[in-house]
Amino acid sequence: MDECLFCKIVTGEIPSQKVYEDSEFFAFLDINPRNPGHTLVVPKKHYNTVMEMDDHEAGEFFKVVKKIAIAVKKGMNADGISLGQSNERAAGQVIPHAHFHVIPRFLTEGPPGLESILPTKKMTNEMLEKSVKVIQENIGASVQASRPEPAPEPQPEPSEPETEPVTESTSEPASEESSNGVDRELKKIDDEKFSFE
Ligand SMILES: [Zn+2]
Repeated sequence: MDECLFCKIVTGEIPSQKVYEDSEFFAFLDINPRNPGHTLVVPKKHYNTVMEMDDHEAGEFFKVVKKIAIAVKKGMNADGISLGQSNERAAGQVIPHAHFHVIPRFLTEGPPGLESILPTKKMTNEMLEKSVKVIQENIGASVQASRPEPAPEPQPEPSEPETEPVTESTSEPASEESSNGVDRELKKIDDEKFSFE
């Protein structure tokens, strides 16, 4: 992309504080760091979002992100690492070239997690089940879209209504924390965006 800021950083046309480079990926310091050591990791090839990357390259992308996360945490003597990744304008993506933020985090700062970005949403079991259904219906489609050649495709787990994960929160009283985590994730889905029949 001729006018893409990150493409120009990858080629060196725009200077950056380079942290890492290999044949496919490039990492550099964010010029507006959330903390010292805040690093951006990008594929050298231009993709608007990670959803356009082929399966192999998406996998390699995350291997590099993990490598950089370990190095940033050790190097910056951080207590933790937040990985940030946004796709398209509605999600807050500013530069339309796929990228991960690798952000060092410290126990002395707040808020603690990226969960604070959006308030949680209240959803009924029916709405949760509908969300599972519409997502699962599209899992096969997305696998197909990223594989131009016919190939064996991993099939989504067959769904048994009686054993949906949404019912597990009542059957596992001991794991209150993890079931709350599942609920919290699902509650983020904005119910106004769906038409529940
Ligand atoms: Zn680009």
